Amino acid sequence: MNSQNGSAKSSAKPSATAARTPQQPCLRVIPLGGLHEIGKNTCVFEYGDDLMLVDAGLAFPSDGMHGVNVVLPDTAFLRENQKRIRGMIVTHGHEDHIGGIPYHLRHINIPVIYGPRLAMSMLQGKMEEAGVTDRTTIQTVRPRDVVKVGQHFSVEFIRNTHSISDSFSLAITTPVGVVVFTGDFKFDHTPVDGENFDIQRLAHYGEKGVLCLFSDSTNAELPGFTPPERSVFPNLDRHIGNAEGRVILTTFASSTQRVAMILELAMKHGRKVSLLGRSMLNVIAKARELGYMHCPDDLFVPIKQIRDLPDRETLLLMTGSQGEPLAALSRISRGEHPQVQVKSSDTIIFSASPIPGNTISVVKTIDRLMMLGARVVYGKGEGIHVSGHGSQEDQKLMLALTRPKYFVPVHGEHRMLVAHSRTGQSMGIPADHTLIIDNGDAVELTPDSLRKGEPVKAGIELLDGSRTGIIDARVLKERQQLAEDGVITLLATISHDGLMTAPARVHLRGVVTTADPRKLSIWAEREIGWVLENRWNQLARNTGGKAPEVDWVGVQREVEVGLQRRLRRELQVEPLIVCLVHPAPAGTPAYKGQADSEPDTRPAPRQRRDGGGDASRDVTRTVSRAPVPVAVPAPSARAAAQPAAELEPAGRARRRRSAAG
Ligand SMILES: [Zn+2]
Ligand SMILES: [Zn+2]
Repeated sequence: MNSQNGSAKSSAKPSATAARTPQQPCLRVIPLGGLHEIGKNTCVFEYGDDLMLVDAGLAFPSDGMHGVNVVLPDTAFLRENQKRIRGMIVTHGHEDHIGGIPYHLRHINIPVIYGPRLAMSMLQGKMEEAGVTDRTTIQTVRPRDVVKVGQHFSVEFIRNTHSISDSFSLAITTPVGVVVFTGDFKFDHTPVDGENFDIQRLAHYGEKGVLCLFSDSTNAELPGFTPPERSVFPNLDRHIGNAEGRVILTTFASSTQRVAMILELAMKHGRKVSLLGRSMLNVIAKARELGYMHCPDDLFVPIKQIRDLPDRETLLLMTGSQGEPLAALSRISRGEHPQVQVKSSDTIIFSASPIPGNTISVVKTIDRLMMLGARVVYGKGEGIHVSGHGSQEDQKLMLALTRPKYFVPVHGEHRMLVAHSRTGQSMGIPADHTLIIDNGDAVELTPDSLRKGEPVKAGIELLDGSRTGIIDARVLKERQQLAEDGVITLLATISHDGLMTAPARVHLRGVVTTADPRKLSIWAEREIGWVLENRWNQLARNTGGKAPEVDWVGVQREVEVGLQRRLRRELQVEPLIVCLVHPAPAGTPAYKGQADSEPDTRPAPRQRRDGGGDASRDVTRTVSRAPVPVAVPAPSARAAAQPAAELEPAGRARRRRSAAG
């Protein structure tokens, strides 16, 4: 299955370009993240008994991931194979490449991490915060350093140019040939930090022969070359020069090339700089320490003192370019920052473009700042931002220099991978020498074949605010229910002989419904009654003692599932339902219930499948007073469940399902 039709994802069927015996050893390259998305780049190289990781990034949560701080790739594969992990290579210091490492180190043994000085210094800080500094050894590398990982990998670091300084492409020599892994790059021939792309070295490998190229696809849809970082200088210069009052500027802290220019401009225009936001302070301190930014100490003034200077002589550089709610600029826009209030004479510059998914929070921040009276400079037309990733012509140059036999586009959403593979084809790489893959797919390489092998488990792990607990799909669904439809708690009093002994008590929080509370408790009692009538024998076990052993959790779950279905059907709401059972001693007199006063409008009986039992134990629900005829249960539980589901108003039911799924 090949690349250009884009249907490669569904199948792991081999697409051998040459026959190969099963015994022939191959190199497997398995990206666990970073494909069909921008973020959490994590790639595994496997040969024989050796595993080598390249980068381990994180992604940020999308809408609906309530309370999630960090998204990581599924690490099941790494945990299962951790004895074989020989080391990790880091290409550069962006969060989508190093952000996951401190979390992985808690559970996974990575004996050594090799990476650039700036990235390693940033990583060191993160590891100290996470308390995992003793879990690995960090080794910094310089351009053209070669490191050996395990028996089978030898990695040369080739200086490239990107929005962060000290970034590398990799030439990985393996028993099957040389793989060039570009990392994030663009060809910037006038880098702000003066560190040039080592094109000669790429060409050297191209000359010797590159088996396969794994290349950054972020801007594969954009024609032309990505402009050099320096191209924003005149525009920033003009805006800062024209500003009458303070300049408030936001960009990614990790865009060190941009930050270096901004500091240069502050000096040029006689403005002192205050830094706001922890990452801004951290990254600048590290970049200066390592010589990637040059400016005198007295350029910087703490925020508390900068207010004593005339507005014309100040520049506040801060985080918040993505509208992150807790970042400095977002708090300023809401009037919640303790030290900075917006003035109408302020010029506020967004020198960044929103990552897809952040657009709404960015434009809202801009709106709020404008409403406070500031002049806000933002958007493509202003020429104050360029991407750190190469466009089609950069990507062609990379292909031309490395001249790979096989080509795998990585680091991008699906359409970007497809566009990049087309660029490859336009340069003469046959379609069947290209693979479009998904996270977890295994690229199998031999000297004369490229194919997709057995995939490994891939998915996501979500970390919550405490950054320790993993949020699984169930927790996420519950949070979505809470946020969208609220919660219903239900207290049921049930005796050990399986009788309801008191009225059901129902409480609603955040639930909008037209049903009156009495109706809800009647429904709740019906569900309890049904469970006691039809499921008690499975849930209560006679152990010979006085009272049976009751699976109260099972009872709760059955009641929850039943009430959930009824609410979905009758009211088109799907609140989280929490049923608590208060067990009463055997012999407590039964409570008759209010159910008789209300006709049951349930449309048809159905089988219950969610009770945790196997299908053979499923019981068809029968309600003696049901006004509709009792249907003969269908042989398959799935078929039987159908009529009930169909009664839901289609649009809403479908929306909920997709939201939950
Ligand atoms: Zn990057
Ligand atoms: Zn990246």
